[in-house]
Amino acid sequence: MQYAESVIDLVGNTPLVRLSSVTRDLGPDAPLVLAKVEYLNPGGSVKDRIAVRMVDAAEASGELEPGGTIVEPTSGNTGIGLALVAQQRGYKCIFVCPDKVGQEKVNVLRAYGAEVVVCPTAVDPADPRSYYSVSDRLSRETPGAWKPDQYSNPNNPRSHYETTGPEIWTQTEGRITHFVTGAGTGGTISGVGRYLKESSGGRVQVIGADPEGSVYSGGTGRPYLVEGVGEDFWPSTYDQDVADEIIAVSDGDSFAMTRRLAREEGLLVGGSCGMAVVAALRVAGRLTKDDVLVVLLPDGGRGYLNKIFNDAWMADYGFLEAAGGETIGELLE
Ligand code: PMP
Repeated sequence: MQYAESVIDLVGNTPLVRLSSVTRDLGPDAPLVLAKVEYLNPGGSVKDRIAVRMVDAAEASGELEPGGTIVEPTSGNTGIGLALVAQQRGYKCIFVCPDKVGQEKVNVLRAYGAEVVVCPTAVDPADPRSYYSVSDRLSRETPGAWKPDQYSNPNNPRSHYETTGPEIWTQTEGRITHFVTGAGTGGTISGVGRYLKESSGGRVQVIGADPEGSVYSGGTGRPYLVEGVGEDFWPSTYDQDVADEIIAVSDGDSFAMTRRLAREEGLLVGGSCGMAVVAALRVAGRLTKDDVLVVLLPDGGRGYLNKIFNDAWMADYGFLEAAGGETIGELLE
């Protein structure tokens, strides 16, 4: 019989799939462009990997004791990963998030059994009601609390150095020449990038994809709509020496590509995936058929049905033109 002992054992070992439609304008000398499909992790994103590694390390160091409580200010993929691991290992989870976070995301975390505390967005970070203050207070006051802090936890990039990087190296039989990924905490690019650089003797080029406005591509931190990537500060999980290049991508281009990935490649993925693929295709345009480019797709598209995959939302922001002006309704006719 073939089965996993627990859902945690299903984290990682995600497949690579060739992108063959969105790459068609690259011409006959195009490189092989392969996508690493992270939504096939059990929690639906790349963040399951860091959750397992951070919890393992906290158990080993004694920071997280049996029956303890995981407290983290997160509303997204990291929360799902942590909730899943917590539930399987008998920990409680309390997530703190600002009230701008959609009800769907809160419901997903609660569905996994986590407690979610929603805090007002419209207050100063120093205000005791802010989500920073509340998560600090809860981690101080809750007995047996442990705060993973994905923005400073070295086990975040380490999980990618130990799993995602080696998987890509083995799956491409060491023939990868370029790796493209977005950066939020920077854990993925730092861990995978360092592993691939070391394994190839520095040959593999590492390229970061970044929303226009984020500090990684020289922006001021001004707002953008792509979720999960880009920052307005430099987290310690981001290794500034690893990327050979950072490519800034607009929201409009990111979302247009995200929609193409769903309808041309059968990959219903999130906006940071579209962003990474736009950057990947810009790099691929300079390469030849001897090259092998891997682009990492962090999460699935179900969480974005009311935004990127909603014509009215896209039109409100003027993004439908970037998406070729074709509405999903028109495509169905
Ligand atoms: N895309 C999405 C949707 C994410 O949730 C994250 C994690 N913040 C990333 C990309 C970036 O990954 P990392 O934090 O490893 O840089």
